[in-house]
Amino acid sequence: MDANDAAGRLDSDQTLSRRTRELAILVEASTAFSSTHSLDALLQTMCHTMTESVESTFCRVYLLEEDGQRLTLRAACALRDAPGAPGTVRTYPLSVLPWHSQALARGEPLVLVRSQDEAKIPEPERTLLFHPQYCSVLLMPLSLQDRRLGVAVLGEIRAWERTRFTSEKVELCRAISRQGALALENILALESSSKQGREIKLVIDNVADGIFRTDPDLHLLTFNPAAERITGYSANQVLGRSCCEIMQGLSEDGTPLCARGCPLHRLANSPRVAGPITVKEWITRHDGTKVLVAHSVMPILDPNDRLLGAVSVIRDITREEELVRLKSEFISMVSHELRTPLANISASAELLAKLELDTAAEKDMLHILNQECSRLMRLVDQVLEASRLEKGQIQPTVEPLALVPLIEQMVNLYRSRYRAFHFDIQAGPPLPVALGDLVLVEIVLENLIQNTVNYSPEGSTITVSAQEREGMVHVCVADQGIGIPADQLDSIFQRFHRLSNPQSKKVSGFGLGLYIARLLVEAQGGVIWAESQPGQGSRFCFTLRAANPVEEQQAAA
Ligand code: ADP
Repeated sequence: MDANDAAGRLDSDQTLSRRTRELAILVEASTAFSSTHSLDALLQTMCHTMTESVESTFCRVYLLEEDGQRLTLRAACALRDAPGAPGTVRTYPLSVLPWHSQALARGEPLVLVRSQDEAKIPEPERTLLFHPQYCSVLLMPLSLQDRRLGVAVLGEIRAWERTRFTSEKVELCRAISRQGALALENILALESSSKQGREIKLVIDNVADGIFRTDPDLHLLTFNPAAERITGYSANQVLGRSCCEIMQGLSEDGTPLCARGCPLHRLANSPRVAGPITVKEWITRHDGTKVLVAHSVMPILDPNDRLLGAVSVIRDITREEELVRLKSEFISMVSHELRTPLANISASAELLAKLELDTAAEKDMLHILNQECSRLMRLVDQVLEASRLEKGQIQPTVEPLALVPLIEQMVNLYRSRYRAFHFDIQAGPPLPVALGDLVLVEIVLENLIQNTVNYSPEGSTITVSAQEREGMVHVCVADQGIGIPADQLDSIFQRFHRLSNPQSKKVSGFGLGLYIARLLVEAQGGVIWAESQPGQGSRFCFTLRAANPVEEQQAAA
């Protein structure tokens, strides 16, 4: 073997032993990294492993904050009493660490040498990298594919000629940092999900509303502290038991809801609902007392729309309802007291109108007086009617009603009053006969038709239709008017609710007509709703039970 062969063999032996050592370091690093679930312990292990493997003097690990704009120094270690292991966590904006940012952005290591590079590095990064004793530093990005996690900085204090970061050291450090980044990613994901879980629990435990989850068979799976407070049951007492057994829900008029009216039961039949189903219900507390709650339910569905369970929110509204009742009683009392003097003023104004008045100004003033009197009388009448309905003082007399003649009569009245509008009637076949109270149905129709005239331009068409469908008669009043925004389609049926758009404000009104219409329809066992395309028109529909449902007629034939 000549000298060259011997030198070659020595080289390859050295390479082999270096590779073997590197492999052992990597295996050890991987085992150490994956054996911890604590972020701080992992970062500290990474610091030590990298420092020892490449024989550097110190290592610092910076993590990128969630905003992607700041680096926080999270771990550091220094060998041989070198400076570099700061006691405190510090955060730096990326803008003040341009070289760290560069390594991070490129995903490639950067070696900086004091003698060549120090002048290029601005403060405060220069002091951070080149402490008076350091000669060269290696900036090693911690990243996984596109995900940037942070930067490890390794430094040397010995004369750089001997100890500069050779390409072998850089590659070994890169391999270790990849293993570290993998473990880091896992721990960050774990921390983030358990942090989210803790935050959700914190919110659910401290929210003022009762929240509980049920399975598809309505067994209670969770029960938060507010639900415990509202119902008087502890979570331990109710978990696993049926919601019906615990709550014993009753509707406002005392009908048991658990059999079919409860929103949870409704979900079981048609789980795909657009939004939460909300009802007001009385529930029975542990001590037997009753509490009125607003109960909203949202289904939990699997990807095939199968019901997995539901989340319920209950809010104690006993006091709110009491306030509403007191307010409503007060309004109706005041209205009642106003009625007699108003009737007197109105009668006097009418009498005065019959006298010969001297000037046009006097006539105008009297006209205004008359108009305002009728407006106030209408408000007082509506308030009193709503209040009687709320108290259940108006009991419908339900009888078979031939709807077409009723609609024709009403439409003819409006045709003669409002000649600038076109009125159209569409009915049947077969001509629908509904079960309802004649006077109440007339009031509903009048409210709806009056609104179409109020909120549509002259010359437009108003269509009133009646049709029987699946045992119910649907009566609809459609216009080509200003329309109603989608988010107000439900609230316009609430007391005193008026749209805030300028067109609505031009019309004098109190926001009671639709509220009364809803109470009247519901008193007859129907429902009322609105559909609309803002700017193109609205359609108001209500239902009444059909007197002789078509199916029954067909069955009898
Ligand atoms: P009002 O006396 O204010 O008309 P209603 O209860 O009858 O009271 O109606 C409530 C509000 O609903 C109205 O103020 C108006 O903003 C809106 N609205 C009712 N009907 C229509 C309609 N056909 N087109 C557009 N907006 C309507």
